[in-house]
Amino acid sequence: MSKVIDGKAVAATVLEECRREVDSLKAKGVTPGLAVVLVGEDPASMVYVGSKVRTCGDLGIHSRKIELPTETTQEELLKVVAELNADPAIHGILVQSPPPEQIDEEEIVRALDPAKDVDGFHPENVAKLALEDPTGFVPCTPAGCMRLIKEAGIETSGANAVVIGRSMIVGKPMALLLMAKGSDATVTVAHSRSRDLPAICREADILVAAVGRPEMVKADWVKDGAVVIDVGINRVEDPSRKSGYRLTGDVAYEEVAPKCKAITPVPGGVGPMTIAMLMKNTIAAASRA
Ligand code: NDP
Repeated sequence: MSKVIDGKAVAATVLEECRREVDSLKAKGVTPGLAVVLVGEDPASMVYVGSKVRTCGDLGIHSRKIELPTETTQEELLKVVAELNADPAIHGILVQSPPPEQIDEEEIVRALDPAKDVDGFHPENVAKLALEDPTGFVPCTPAGCMRLIKEAGIETSGANAVVIGRSMIVGKPMALLLMAKGSDATVTVAHSRSRDLPAICREADILVAAVGRPEMVKADWVKDGAVVIDVGINRVEDPSRKSGYRLTGDVAYEEVAPKCKAITPVPGGVGPMTIAMLMKNTIAAASRA
């Protein structure tokens, strides 16, 4: 029987820790502050930004939502980032992705003060992750996956871990975290050019899917007793739903779950952890400042 890893419950625990940390910072006269910058009106981004701001409110973190029009120029956005970098009430800055096409996202990330880069995307933070320097910020989604693995009592040391996906947001940092000292997994990173992906996945004691392809990972890709972490969030049409769609992961959950030692569902697995870890990073930024 597989154990379903309840991301909502673990996220609630993390948020409870955050609440205590916010209270103790406030007692010292510091209110953590997060600025969330949204350029344009991408509907999914608007939902994400809304829940980040709401979670800040729940925890007593000061939040500032900056909504800019779709036609915002690179220079205008760089100016906003520079102002936030200089603002002592703001400890964390997040520019919601994806921005409109005229924006060079990489330049925006490089313009962030690395000490306020709570997404962990600035090159300095990427380097610190690779160097296992704890003074950096770890990207929220892979940090959340590691916390789920830990809370589920999964042994990573010596385990064969396979990460499908090599993005800078999920796959690559996830691989670094799994192989870091203390986690000590043996890590394989697969991507769109990998040969015989099912065979690679079958070697995994821990399989992390961060691809963006609905239900790609099938039962015969997964070893009996494996731990499966499904990062994917895919919208698929579902006429039986009022909305006309449902969310599904990168793993064919129904057929894979019975083979697993533990598995995360979608929704309710990795998703809730991302915001919780963002709150953690924001509090860390405030306490370091
Ligand atoms: P990207 O599109 O940036 O990266 C996808 C990766 O998957 C790439 O490395 C790509 O390979 C690889 N890939 C694509 N197709 C295949 C294939 N057929 N076989 C093997 N590998 C393949 O996506 P992200 O990393 O940003 O996100 C991945 C998923 O996670 C998405 O569903 C996204 O919505 C979700 N997500 C969920 C979050 C959460 O909070 N739960 C947060 C962030 C993302 P290549 O490099 O060769 O192109």
